[in-house]
Amino acid sequence: MGIQMQQAIEVGKYLVTQRLMGRKKFPLVLMLEPLFRCNLACPGCGKIQHPKEILKQNLTPEECFKAAEECGAPVVSIPGGEPLMHPQIDEIVKGLVARRKFVYLCTNGLLLEKSLDKFQPSPYLTFSVHLDGLKEHHDQCVDRKGVFEIAVNAIRAAKAKGFRVTTNTTVFEGANPQEMQKFFDFLGELGTDGMMISPGYSYEWAPDQEHFLKREQTKALFREILSPYKAGRKKWNFNHNPLFLDFLIGDKDYECTPWGSPSYSVLGWQKPCYLLNEGHYETFQELLDNTNWDNYGRKSGNPKCADCMVHCGYEPTAAMDAMEPSNIGRSVGALLGMR
Ligand code: SF4
Ligand code: SF4
Repeated sequence: MGIQMQQAIEVGKYLVTQRLMGRKKFPLVLMLEPLFRCNLACPGCGKIQHPKEILKQNLTPEECFKAAEECGAPVVSIPGGEPLMHPQIDEIVKGLVARRKFVYLCTNGLLLEKSLDKFQPSPYLTFSVHLDGLKEHHDQCVDRKGVFEIAVNAIRAAKAKGFRVTTNTTVFEGANPQEMQKFFDFLGELGTDGMMISPGYSYEWAPDQEHFLKREQTKALFREILSPYKAGRKKWNFNHNPLFLDFLIGDKDYECTPWGSPSYSVLGWQKPCYLLNEGHYETFQELLDNTNWDNYGRKSGNPKCADCMVHCGYEPTAAMDAMEPSNIGRSVGALLGMR
Protein backbone atom coordinates (compact mmCIF):
# COMPACT_ATOMS: atom_id res chain seq x y z
CA MET A 1 0.00 0.00 0.00
CA GLY A 2 1.35 3.48 -0.88
CA ILE A 3 2.33 5.67 2.06
CA GLN A 4 -0.07 8.40 0.97
CA MET A 5 -2.88 5.83 0.97
CA GLN A 6 -1.83 4.49 4.40
CA GLN A 7 -1.86 8.02 5.79
CA ALA A 8 -5.24 8.79 4.20
CA ILE A 9 -6.74 5.62 5.70
CA GLU A 10 -5.38 6.33 9.18
CA VAL A 11 -6.51 9.96 9.04
CA GLY A 12 -9.91 8.83 7.71
CA LYS A 13 -10.27 6.38 10.62
CA TYR A 14 -9.41 9.16 13.03
CA LEU A 15 -12.03 11.49 11.49
CA VAL A 16 -14.73 8.81 11.64
CA THR A 17 -13.86 8.09 15.29
CA GLN A 18 -14.09 11.78 16.21
CA ARG A 19 -17.48 12.01 14.58
CA LEU A 20 -18.75 8.86 16.28
CA MET A 21 -17.59 10.31 19.59
CA GLY A 22 -19.68 13.39 18.82
CA ARG A 23 -16.73 15.80 18.95
CA LYS A 24 -17.46 19.03 17.12
CA LYS A 25 -14.00 20.58 17.31
CA PHE A 26 -10.94 18.40 16.95
CA PRO A 27 -7.47 18.82 15.43
CA LEU A 28 -6.13 17.12 12.35
CA VAL A 29 -2.59 18.48 12.17
CA LEU A 30 -0.51 19.69 15.10
CA MET A 31 1.75 22.54 14.01
CA LEU A 32 4.65 21.98 16.37
CA GLU A 33 7.15 24.83 16.43
CA PRO A 34 10.07 23.63 18.55
CA LEU A 35 11.99 26.88 17.96
CA PHE A 36 11.62 30.14 16.03
CA ARG A 37 15.29 30.58 15.03
CA CYS A 38 16.20 30.27 11.39
CA ASN A 39 19.31 30.41 9.24
CA LEU A 40 17.42 32.45 6.62
CA ALA A 41 15.49 35.73 6.85
CA CYS A 42 12.81 35.53 4.15
CA PRO A 43 10.98 38.85 3.65
CA GLY A 44 7.53 37.13 3.79
CA CYS A 45 8.23 35.24 7.03
CA GLY A 46 6.00 35.77 10.03
CA LYS A 47 7.97 33.66 12.51
CA ILE A 48 11.48 35.06 12.90
CA GLN A 49 10.44 38.48 14.22
CA HIS A 50 10.14 37.29 17.83
CA PRO A 51 12.44 39.00 20.37
CA LYS A 52 15.92 37.55 20.85
CA GLU A 53 15.13 35.88 24.18
CA ILE A 54 12.26 33.94 22.50
CA LEU A 55 14.40 33.08 19.46
CA LYS A 56 16.97 31.49 21.78
CA GLN A 57 14.46 29.06 23.30
CA ASN A 58 13.82 25.42 22.30
CA LEU A 59 10.97 23.10 23.22
CA THR A 60 12.29 19.98 24.93
CA PRO A 61 11.46 16.57 23.41
CA GLU A 62 9.20 15.89 26.43
CA GLU A 63 7.26 19.12 25.82
CA CYS A 64 6.81 18.10 22.17
CA PHE A 65 5.53 14.62 23.10
CA LYS A 66 3.17 16.06 25.71
CA ALA A 67 1.72 18.49 23.15
CA ALA A 68 1.27 15.68 20.59
CA GLU A 69 -0.50 13.47 23.13
CA GLU A 70 -2.57 16.32 24.54
CA CYS A 71 -4.08 17.31 21.20
CA GLY A 72 -4.11 13.82 19.64
CA ALA A 73 -3.88 14.92 15.98
CA PRO A 74 -2.71 12.08 13.71
CA VAL A 75 -0.36 14.36 11.73
CA VAL A 76 2.41 16.50 13.23
CA SER A 77 3.93 19.19 11.06
CA ILE A 78 7.18 20.65 12.41
CA PRO A 79 7.75 24.11 10.96
CA GLY A 80 9.79 26.80 12.67
CA GLY A 81 12.09 28.59 12.37
CA GLU A 82 14.36 25.95 10.98
CA PRO A 83 13.72 22.71 12.90
CA LEU A 84 17.08 21.22 11.87
CA MET A 85 18.76 23.91 14.03
CA HIS A 86 17.14 22.32 17.11
CA PRO A 87 19.86 20.36 18.97
CA GLN A 88 17.46 17.47 19.78
CA ILE A 89 15.38 17.38 16.60
CA ASP A 90 16.35 13.74 15.97
CA GLU A 91 15.05 12.75 19.41
CA ILE A 92 11.82 14.70 18.82
CA VAL A 93 11.19 13.06 15.45
CA LYS A 94 12.03 9.59 16.76
CA GLY A 95 9.62 9.97 19.68
CA LEU A 96 6.79 11.21 17.46
CA VAL A 97 7.31 8.42 14.94
CA ALA A 98 7.27 5.91 17.82
CA ARG A 99 3.84 7.37 18.71
CA ARG A 100 2.74 6.62 15.12
CA LYS A 101 2.32 10.26 14.20
CA PHE A 102 2.77 11.19 10.53
CA VAL A 103 5.60 13.69 10.90
CA TYR A 104 6.28 16.39 8.30
CA LEU A 105 9.59 18.04 9.14
CA CYS A 106 9.53 21.37 7.27
CA THR A 107 12.97 22.65 6.31
CA ASN A 108 14.52 25.24 4.06
CA GLY A 109 16.98 22.49 3.06
CA LEU A 110 20.22 24.25 4.05
CA LEU A 111 21.06 21.73 6.79
CA LEU A 112 19.18 18.75 5.40
CA GLU A 113 21.91 16.82 3.60
CA LYS A 114 24.33 16.95 6.53
CA SER A 115 21.52 16.01 8.96
CA LEU A 116 20.29 12.90 7.16
CA ASP A 117 22.38 10.49 9.24
CA LYS A 118 20.45 11.59 12.34
CA PHE A 119 17.20 10.11 10.98
CA GLN A 120 15.84 6.75 9.89
CA PRO A 121 13.58 6.44 6.81
CA SER A 122 10.04 5.59 7.89
CA PRO A 123 6.55 5.69 6.36
CA TYR A 124 5.78 8.06 9.25
CA LEU A 125 8.53 10.60 8.41
CA THR A 126 8.50 13.05 5.53
CA PHE A 127 10.92 15.91 4.92
CA SER A 128 8.91 18.81 3.56
CA VAL A 129 11.35 21.11 1.79
CA HIS A 130 10.52 24.77 1.30
CA LEU A 131 10.84 25.67 -2.39
CA ASP A 132 8.90 28.62 -3.79
CA GLY A 133 9.85 28.20 -7.45
CA LEU A 134 12.73 27.61 -9.82
CA LYS A 135 16.24 28.79 -8.97
CA GLU A 136 16.05 32.52 -9.58
CA HIS A 137 12.57 32.94 -8.13
CA HIS A 138 13.23 30.82 -5.04
CA ASP A 139 16.54 32.51 -4.23
CA GLN A 140 14.80 35.86 -4.53
CA CYS A 141 11.94 34.73 -2.22
CA VAL A 142 14.39 33.60 0.47
CA ASP A 143 16.67 36.57 -0.16
CA ARG A 144 19.84 34.50 -0.61
CA LYS A 145 21.58 33.17 -3.71
CA GLY A 146 22.44 29.47 -3.88
CA VAL A 147 19.68 28.24 -1.54
CA PHE A 148 17.71 26.56 -4.35
CA GLU A 149 20.69 24.49 -5.43
CA ILE A 150 21.51 23.39 -1.88
CA ALA A 151 17.88 22.43 -1.22
CA VAL A 152 17.58 20.48 -4.49
CA ASN A 153 20.82 18.59 -3.82
CA ALA A 154 19.54 17.78 -0.34
CA ILE A 155 16.27 16.44 -1.81
CA ARG A 156 18.27 14.17 -4.14
CA ALA A 157 20.45 12.97 -1.25
CA ALA A 158 17.41 12.30 0.97
CA LYS A 159 15.63 10.38 -1.78
CA ALA A 160 18.81 8.34 -2.46
CA LYS A 161 18.82 7.31 1.22
CA GLY A 162 15.21 6.15 1.04
CA PHE A 163 13.50 9.08 2.75
CA ARG A 164 10.12 10.37 1.77
CA VAL A 165 10.40 13.99 0.58
CA THR A 166 7.70 16.48 -0.33
CA THR A 167 7.93 20.19 -1.06
CA ASN A 168 5.99 23.14 0.27
CA THR A 169 5.52 26.19 -1.89
CA THR A 170 4.08 29.55 -0.97
CA VAL A 171 2.63 31.46 -3.89
CA PHE A 172 2.92 35.24 -3.67
CA GLU A 173 1.44 38.03 -5.75
CA GLY A 174 3.22 38.44 -9.08
CA ALA A 175 4.00 34.72 -9.44
CA ASN A 176 4.25 33.80 -13.12
CA PRO A 177 1.80 30.92 -13.85
CA GLN A 178 3.92 29.46 -16.67
CA GLU A 179 7.03 29.53 -14.46
CA MET A 180 5.10 27.78 -11.67
CA GLN A 181 3.97 25.11 -14.14
CA LYS A 182 7.60 24.53 -15.21
CA PHE A 183 8.53 24.34 -11.54
CA PHE A 184 5.93 21.63 -10.87
CA ASP A 185 7.24 19.69 -13.89
CA PHE A 186 10.74 20.01 -12.44
CA LEU A 187 9.60 18.67 -9.04
CA GLY A 188 8.00 15.69 -10.81
CA GLU A 189 11.31 14.95 -12.58
CA LEU A 190 13.11 15.25 -9.25
CA GLY A 191 11.00 12.34 -8.00
CA THR A 192 9.52 14.05 -4.95
CA ASP A 193 6.66 12.33 -3.13
CA GLY A 194 4.19 15.17 -3.39
CA MET A 195 3.89 18.94 -3.54
CA MET A 196 2.06 21.28 -1.20
CA ILE A 197 1.02 24.74 -2.33
CA SER A 198 -0.54 27.60 -0.46
CA PRO A 199 -1.07 31.30 -0.94
CA GLY A 200 1.07 33.44 1.38
CA TYR A 201 -0.60 34.87 4.47
CA SER A 202 -0.03 38.58 5.11
CA TYR A 203 1.54 38.46 8.56
CA GLU A 204 1.31 41.97 10.03
CA TRP A 205 4.94 41.78 11.11
CA ALA A 206 6.44 40.36 7.88
CA PRO A 207 8.89 42.91 6.41
CA ASP A 208 7.46 42.62 2.86
CA GLN A 209 3.76 43.53 2.88
CA GLU A 210 3.43 44.22 -0.83
CA HIS A 211 3.27 40.72 -2.24
CA PHE A 212 0.41 39.03 -0.40
CA LEU A 213 -2.61 37.96 -2.44
CA LYS A 214 -6.20 39.10 -1.98
CA ARG A 215 -8.89 36.39 -2.11
CA GLU A 216 -10.08 36.98 -5.71
CA GLN A 217 -6.48 37.31 -6.92
CA THR A 218 -5.66 34.01 -5.23
CA LYS A 219 -8.45 32.17 -7.00
CA ALA A 220 -7.60 33.68 -10.40
CA LEU A 221 -3.89 32.94 -10.05
CA PHE A 222 -4.38 29.34 -8.87
CA ARG A 223 -6.98 28.77 -11.59
CA GLU A 224 -4.38 29.72 -14.17
CA ILE A 225 -1.53 27.81 -12.57
CA LEU A 226 -3.57 24.63 -12.14
CA SER A 227 -5.44 24.74 -15.46
CA PRO A 228 -3.31 22.04 -17.22
CA TYR A 229 -3.68 19.81 -14.16
CA LYS A 230 -7.44 20.27 -13.94
CA ALA A 231 -7.72 19.58 -17.68
CA GLY A 232 -5.79 16.32 -17.21
CA ARG A 233 -2.80 17.43 -19.29
CA LYS A 234 -0.44 17.34 -16.31
CA LYS A 235 -0.13 14.58 -13.72
CA TRP A 236 1.38 16.67 -10.92
CA ASN A 237 1.49 14.86 -7.63
CA PHE A 238 -0.08 17.14 -5.01
CA ASN A 239 0.01 16.20 -1.37
CA HIS A 240 -3.44 17.75 -0.84
CA ASN A 241 -6.97 16.58 -0.79
CA PRO A 242 -8.32 17.46 -4.28
CA LEU A 243 -11.14 19.42 -2.63
CA PHE A 244 -8.61 21.87 -1.19
CA LEU A 245 -7.36 22.52 -4.73
CA ASP A 246 -10.98 23.08 -5.81
CA PHE A 247 -11.22 25.65 -3.00
CA LEU A 248 -8.05 27.44 -4.15
CA ILE A 249 -9.39 27.86 -7.69
CA GLY A 250 -12.80 29.02 -6.44
CA ASP A 251 -14.84 25.88 -7.27
CA LYS A 252 -15.57 25.31 -3.56
CA ASP A 253 -16.55 27.85 -0.96
CA TYR A 254 -15.29 26.80 2.46
CA GLU A 255 -15.20 28.33 5.90
CA CYS A 256 -12.01 28.11 7.94
CA THR A 257 -11.49 25.41 10.58
CA PRO A 258 -8.99 27.25 12.79
CA TRP A 259 -8.86 24.52 15.45
CA GLY A 260 -8.00 21.95 12.75
CA SER A 261 -4.27 22.82 12.78
CA PRO A 262 -3.46 24.12 16.26
CA SER A 263 -0.03 25.55 16.88
CA TYR A 264 2.18 24.79 19.88
CA SER A 265 5.52 26.55 20.45
CA VAL A 266 7.85 27.74 23.19
CA LEU A 267 5.09 30.29 23.99
CA GLY A 268 2.32 27.69 24.46
CA TRP A 269 -0.86 26.99 22.43
CA GLN A 270 -1.32 29.92 20.08
CA LYS A 271 -4.71 31.60 19.83
CA PRO A 272 -6.50 31.18 17.48
CA CYS A 273 -4.40 29.57 14.71
CA TYR A 274 -0.94 29.07 13.29
CA LEU A 275 -1.05 32.43 11.50
CA LEU A 276 -2.56 34.85 14.01
CA ASN A 277 -0.85 35.47 17.29
CA GLU A 278 -3.41 36.78 19.76
CA GLY A 279 -2.03 35.21 22.89
CA HIS A 280 -1.29 31.74 24.21
CA TYR A 281 -2.84 29.11 26.46
CA GLU A 282 -1.10 26.57 28.62
CA THR A 283 -3.23 23.63 27.50
CA PHE A 284 -4.91 22.56 24.30
CA GLN A 285 -8.22 22.18 26.11
CA GLU A 286 -8.03 25.82 27.26
CA LEU A 287 -7.44 26.87 23.65
CA LEU A 288 -10.52 24.93 22.54
CA ASP A 289 -12.75 26.07 25.40
CA ASN A 290 -11.69 29.71 25.85
CA THR A 291 -11.29 30.94 22.29
CA ASN A 292 -14.27 32.74 20.83
CA TRP A 293 -14.15 30.90 17.49
CA ASP A 294 -16.97 33.01 16.05
CA ASN A 295 -14.45 35.85 15.74
CA TYR A 296 -12.42 33.98 13.13
CA GLY A 297 -12.85 32.74 9.59
CA ARG A 298 -14.00 34.45 6.43
CA LYS A 299 -17.64 34.88 7.46
CA SER A 300 -16.73 36.38 10.85
CA GLY A 301 -15.98 39.75 9.26
CA ASN A 302 -12.54 39.71 10.92
CA PRO A 303 -10.34 41.68 8.47
CA LYS A 304 -7.34 39.49 9.38
CA CYS A 305 -9.23 36.48 7.97
CA ALA A 306 -10.78 38.17 4.93
CA ASP A 307 -8.10 37.18 2.41
CA CYS A 308 -6.76 34.07 4.08
CA MET A 309 -6.99 30.84 2.04
CA VAL A 310 -4.07 29.14 3.70
CA HIS A 311 -3.93 25.34 3.98
CA CYS A 312 -3.64 25.28 7.79
CA GLY A 313 -7.11 26.84 8.03
CA TYR A 314 -8.86 25.33 5.02
CA GLU A 315 -7.30 21.91 4.41
CA PRO A 316 -9.00 20.56 7.58
CA THR A 317 -12.33 21.82 6.17
CA ALA A 318 -11.60 20.03 2.88
CA ALA A 319 -10.67 16.86 4.81
CA MET A 320 -14.04 16.89 6.65
CA ASP A 321 -15.86 17.54 3.38
CA ALA A 322 -13.99 14.61 1.79
CA MET A 323 -15.67 12.31 4.30
CA GLU A 324 -19.11 13.14 2.90
CA PRO A 325 -20.43 10.11 0.95
CA SER A 326 -20.62 12.16 -2.28
CA ASN A 327 -16.88 12.99 -2.09
CA ILE A 328 -15.27 9.77 -0.89
CA GLY A 329 -14.92 8.30 -4.41
CA ARG A 330 -13.13 11.43 -5.60
CA SER A 331 -10.70 11.46 -2.67
CA VAL A 332 -9.81 7.78 -3.15
CA GLY A 333 -9.50 8.36 -6.91
CA ALA A 334 -6.99 11.15 -6.31
CA LEU A 335 -4.89 8.86 -4.13
CA LEU A 336 -4.88 6.31 -6.92
CA GLY A 337 -3.61 8.94 -9.33
CA MET A 338 -6.94 9.80 -10.93
CA ARG A 339 -8.21 13.38 -10.93
S1 SF4 B 1 13.00 29.53 5.87
FE1 SF4 B 1 10.92 29.55 6.76
S2 SF4 B 1 11.23 30.05 8.92
FE2 SF4 B 1 13.14 30.56 7.87
S3 SF4 B 1 12.97 32.73 7.42
FE3 SF4 B 1 12.25 31.61 5.61
S4 SF4 B 1 10.02 31.41 5.89
FE4 SF4 B 1 10.91 31.98 7.89
S1 SF4 C 1 -9.02 32.42 8.23
FE1 SF4 C 1 -6.78 32.17 8.29
S2 SF4 C 1 -6.10 33.74 9.74
FE2 SF4 C 1 -8.31 33.47 10.09
S3 SF4 C 1 -8.46 31.93 11.70
FE3 SF4 C 1 -8.54 30.84 9.75
S4 SF4 C 1 -6.41 30.24 9.35
FE4 SF4 C 1 -6.37 31.85 10.91
